[in-house]
Amino acid sequence: MMRPVRCFSCGKPLADKYEEFEKRVSEGEDPEEVLDDMGITRYCCRRMIYTSIDVTEEMMKFKR
Ligand SMILES: [Zn+2]
Repeated sequence: MMRPVRCFSCGKPLADKYEEFEKRVSEGEDPEEVLDDMGITRYCCRRMIYTSIDVTEEMMKFKR
C-alpha cells in the first residue's frame, strides 16, 4: 500500500483515516461527507486520501 502517513502539504497525520474512509465509502456514504465528518476540510489533505485510494483501486485491476 502506498499511503503517505502525513499530508505532504500541511503535515496533518492521515495514516489512521484511510481505513475509516474506505469502509464508510464502501458502505455507500458520500466520500465528500465522510471527509467533512472526519474533520478533513483542507483540500490538500482530501487530495491525499482520494489519490491514494484511487491508486490502490487501479492497482487491483492488474493483480494476477
Ligand atoms: Zn493537508
